[in-house]
Amino acid sequence: MRSVDEHRQIIAALLPPTPTITLPLAQTQGRPLAVELVSPRPLPAFDNSAMDGYAVRAAETAGSSAAAPVVLPVPEDIPAGRVDGPALAPGTAHRIMTGAPLPAGADAIVQVEHTDAGVDRVAITTAPVLGRHIRRAGEDVRAGSAVLPAGTTLGPAQLGLISALGLPEIAVGAPLRVLVLSTGSELVEPGQPLAHGQIHESNGLMLAAAVRAAGATAEQRHFVSDDPDEFLAALDGAAANHFDLVITSGGVSAGAYEVVKDTLASRGVEFTKVAMQPGMPQGAGRYRGTPVVTLPGNPVSAMVSFEVFLRPALRAAMGYACTERPRVRVPLAEALTSPAGKRQFRRGALDRASGSVVSLGPPGSHHLRWMAASDCLLELPEDVTELPAGTLVLVWDLES
Ligand code: AMP
Ligand code: MG
Repeated sequence: MRSVDEHRQIIAALLPPTPTITLPLAQTQGRPLAVELVSPRPLPAFDNSAMDGYAVRAAETAGSSAAAPVVLPVPEDIPAGRVDGPALAPGTAHRIMTGAPLPAGADAIVQVEHTDAGVDRVAITTAPVLGRHIRRAGEDVRAGSAVLPAGTTLGPAQLGLISALGLPEIAVGAPLRVLVLSTGSELVEPGQPLAHGQIHESNGLMLAAAVRAAGATAEQRHFVSDDPDEFLAALDGAAANHFDLVITSGGVSAGAYEVVKDTLASRGVEFTKVAMQPGMPQGAGRYRGTPVVTLPGNPVSAMVSFEVFLRPALRAAMGYACTERPRVRVPLAEALTSPAGKRQFRRGALDRASGSVVSLGPPGSHHLRWMAASDCLLELPEDVTELPAGTLVLVWDLES
């Protein structure tokens, strides 16, 4: 049997890096930054006020107090956005708002709460500190400095920063185009009635959603039956459409009518057993040049296989710095057993407050309900069979 790590490497090697594309910033949420971002300009771009108040010379107002306020004329009002830059004459104070440019000559801001809020003249009741409440040009970002490393996922804060730097577009890793193809003659589209022996198809949407959540684009062919001609026709369509990857589910285990295995074993895909539970039957290769990864049909097996093999490979190919789920080692809140010689992935609930984990549902790979209730996977090593309560286990955080 092939090890989990070996199969991970084989799948990672199937996917070449995606190209870099430059997109309008508004279209880049969730994408990885293609190259290190070097700031074209300083932030703030100019010295400005951090408070609503008055721009003053600190030395002229040093003696102010509530009992003996310093009173100064206020010749100018400087709201945010004023661009003509009036200088501060000695013996005066300009009224200034947060974000407005500091007038030449001023070296402190008196916040409005420390004044009588006067408009033509202002009485200053607390002495300002030199340099206080002034945001200096470049104190957040220096021009030419590296602000985000390549591979950073562009989330809200990153998009805010890039906008603040004035960049309307940015180079990111292009999404992989993935076709998700379910197989099974028993499958019926949700919404359609079932005959006894039929089931509603669920892997297709689940895997397409997982592909999208990983940052790629997914097209879902709802499903094909276990007829080899139908399956091959769907794959030929995929090759013609230049998908970067085809993910199939079903038809890879040891029974008869294993359409994926029967059809592709002689056409460039290698089928193998991976020492893992769930998800033992796996396949990977190329069909007419297009990478194909064949996942088992049991829904929990398909989902866990995607997490273990495909998600990291997809993210690495697209240039994300963060390819793996965050992992924590926490104590088990219960005793568990695990099969010898297989790496077991149990579904679970991570109790972040107490820092412990509990498994959810039985190990069987059809218990989709428990997969849906889980927020983590427990990775139980191949050589472990008995795990008493309190054993430290590796937990993959699926919510991050
Ligand atoms: P297979 O790997 O094709 O032998 O399927 C294993 C189990 O998973 C069977 O119980 C199938 O009915 C079920 N299964 C396969 N594909 C799907 C699918 N797309 N949606 C839901 N269940 C599936
Ligand atoms: Mg099947």
